[in-house]
Amino acid sequence: MKSHYRVVVIGGGVVGTSVLYHLAKFGWTDVVMLERRRLASGSSWHAAGGIHALNADPNMAALQAYTIDLLSEIEKESGQNIGLHMTGGLTLAGTPERWEWLQANYRIFQSIGIDDCELLTPQEAQKRCPIMSTDGVLGAMWADREGYIDTTGTVQAYATAARKRGAEYYEDTKVEDLIQTADGWQVVTDKGTITCEHVVNAAGLWAKQVGRMAGIELPVSPLKHHYLITDTVPEVAAADFEMPMTVDLEGFTYMRQDQKGILVGIYEVNHEHWAMDGAPWNYGEELFQEQLDRIENELTLGFERYPSIQDVGIKTWVNGAFTFSPDGNPLVGPVPGKRGYWCACAVMAGFLQGGGVGKTLAEWMIHGEPEADAWPMDVARYGKYAENKRYIRETTGQFYSRRFVMTYPNEQLPAGRPLKMAPAHDAMTEAGCKWGVSWDLEVPLYFAPKGFEETPTLKRSNAHDIVAEECKVIREGAGLLDITGFSRYEVTGPNAETWLDRIMASRLPATGRARLAPMLAETGRLKGDLTVLNWGDDTWWIMGSYYLRAWHMRWFDDHMMEGVSIRDLGEEYCGFAVVGPKSQAVVEKLAEQDISGLKFMGCGDFDIGLVRARVARMSVTGEKGYEINCRMGDHVKLRRMLLDAGADVGIRECGFNAMLSTRLEKSFGIWSAEFTQLYTPGMTGMDRWIDWDKDFVGKQAALAERDGNGPDQIQVTLEVDALDADASGYEPVWANGERVGFVTSGGYGHYTGKSLAMALVDRDKAAVGTELSVHVVGVERPARVIAPSPHDPEGKAMRA
Ligand SMILES: Cc1cc2nc3c(=O)[nH]c(=O)nc-3n(C[C@H](O)[C@H](O)[C@H](O)COP(=O)(O)OP(=O)(O)OC[C@H]3O[C@@H](n4cnc5c(N)ncnc54)[C@H](O)[C@@H]3O)c2cc1C
Repeated sequence: MKSHYRVVVIGGGVVGTSVLYHLAKFGWTDVVMLERRRLASGSSWHAAGGIHALNADPNMAALQAYTIDLLSEIEKESGQNIGLHMTGGLTLAGTPERWEWLQANYRIFQSIGIDDCELLTPQEAQKRCPIMSTDGVLGAMWADREGYIDTTGTVQAYATAARKRGAEYYEDTKVEDLIQTADGWQVVTDKGTITCEHVVNAAGLWAKQVGRMAGIELPVSPLKHHYLITDTVPEVAAADFEMPMTVDLEGFTYMRQDQKGILVGIYEVNHEHWAMDGAPWNYGEELFQEQLDRIENELTLGFERYPSIQDVGIKTWVNGAFTFSPDGNPLVGPVPGKRGYWCACAVMAGFLQGGGVGKTLAEWMIHGEPEADAWPMDVARYGKYAENKRYIRETTGQFYSRRFVMTYPNEQLPAGRPLKMAPAHDAMTEAGCKWGVSWDLEVPLYFAPKGFEETPTLKRSNAHDIVAEECKVIREGAGLLDITGFSRYEVTGPNAETWLDRIMASRLPATGRARLAPMLAETGRLKGDLTVLNWGDDTWWIMGSYYLRAWHMRWFDDHMMEGVSIRDLGEEYCGFAVVGPKSQAVVEKLAEQDISGLKFMGCGDFDIGLVRARVARMSVTGEKGYEINCRMGDHVKLRRMLLDAGADVGIRECGFNAMLSTRLEKSFGIWSAEFTQLYTPGMTGMDRWIDWDKDFVGKQAALAERDGNGPDQIQVTLEVDALDADASGYEPVWANGERVGFVTSGGYGHYTGKSLAMALVDRDKAAVGTELSVHVVGVERPARVIAPSPHDPEGKAMRA
């Protein structure tokens, strides 16, 4: 072992070895992996080894598909047998809603290029898995790319392949401490100290402690998980093919063949955490005693699904632990504020996600950006709030228990909530507010009559008419919208303007003005759809999406320059927006200064009644509107004053659902839908905000796009002939049976009375009037390209 490496990877499980392999593969060979015992001695050795490409999150599904395709390559490269059995797999639907969901997802998988799936009747499914009972099964999805592998063999294969490419690894070497230095890290091990530029936390069950070694509290916890392996099942032994990997969602079990018997794994509804502060250091290759009382119900369902196992014995019980983050996705990437500290942990399904995690992290470390959109697994998708132990317990527990439970897009889950509440939260609740959550914050969805409960559904819900009324208020009167859920960053210092001019691709706003500002990565792909405000007193604000706070702050910090200071105002500022044609009448009544001179995209300091506020004349609803930003302590007062002042014009509180419907009618894109870090200015229309005459981060790549052949796909607005449901995102778009794009977001335009979608489609299918079709909840519906902004295309309302 040398005394210095470029990278030290901590942990020799499936994830650490995959990171090591990918680093070496992409050209960094001065890398070492340290394992405190033997390879795969954490959760990796006792995994069930199941692999399946399907995941409710399309980004994770793509990652899983990559991993599965990689496995046979690793086997070849290493010469190590990984026991790969590609049996194909079934996912069963046991309720009408689930069957609908599966059909919808089948189409979404097509959008992301997972084409090896088919929908089956229960009888067809049973033919492929004859040991299964079809009782209660309404349909199934088949996927070719499913099966299982030998777990320790796979870890060994990654490690051997990495070594063949020049990387090193050492077993029986425990990392005991991490000390940050000016140019990297000292890694203190029981075999001596190593220096390096980068450390990677791939410590699996021990990730929490390896985080704490560097003063980092990761939102991760181990939970226990059961599977059993049966003795020989006569039908299995007699079959001349292998049983497919089968997931029974309503039964909470997954099944695969194991020699002549079967393995049945259980996602226990009655979950149990273990070692929330990380596994004990002396924890070895041990298992817990099975806890039959905890899994009785799921076990019964499993025995009913595979009746033949009722007559055979159970050969092996496994009750082991593996790690979860609050949303179940991995924690990957550079930890904000800890230069050179990278995470590759909380990987719930290391054998089906580990390849993708290793690839993503290695690209990130070497090139500064991964190829895929890493947001769903980015460690910076969480903030400080997620360090809280109870938050971690509630959210990881909820995720685990609901692993196979269907979540509807309009469903609100309770774990870790309510946490942060805007000061006027209780008064708004009293007024009927129904809340959603963004990051740690409760955000208003809509205001309903007392006693109203929204029914979870994949289609339009019983809140449809309520949201329609709020949209009408926004378009015809005055709506009041709590905008605590916007992010605000303050930029000051002698070089503030120079810095902003460099990181934003747009021209900067003049004094007292605001401007939409795309922010690009060096690759020319989007990093933000932000608004820059120039208050005229040497302070600038950047405003954006609330849930990106830690993510954007990491980007700002990484691109910082001398003489600039940036502060996240998320704990200091909040506010209300007054939107609609009558908004000026409301604000005017309270403003101590003349507000009529504040033109569209103007901003300034105003006294709104007793509140000193920073006001900007803009609105994402596309109406005339005033965003009134105030200090947290003034929120309650501001709301009361605005409601009183607006009483005579019938002001009404509205929520984010109406805001989203109205923005769709204006074809205004939003982050995580129309804008992601995978897309470019040319694809999304963001290029119209770029100032090509100046220098900015990402300019070369953006110019190459502008001056080249242009993007293959561009953003369009679609009108969909929908029935009782609207597109939501990732549904495929078709032209005469050929897939030509996918929906980025969709919904009902209440004021225009149209079902709308925004979509990325092939350029030759983007002309207004092109007839297309879109799958909506699994059903193909006619759609056509319409001109952007079906409501008020000339933007007269917002400029009025
Ligand atoms: C019962 C069960 C069934 C499962 N079934 C599946 C399945 O079917 N498919 C699937 O994909 N996944 C499955 N999993 C999950 C899978 O096991 C994990 O996702 C995977 O093992 C995580 O790998 P890892 O490398 O992140 O962590 P680990 O395997 O825990 O590896 C971490 C390694 O880091 C080492 N380490 C920790 N701290 C230090 C230190 N300070 N110094 C040096 N070394 C250190 C440890 O010794 C360990 O070897 C299952 C898990 C369980 C418990």
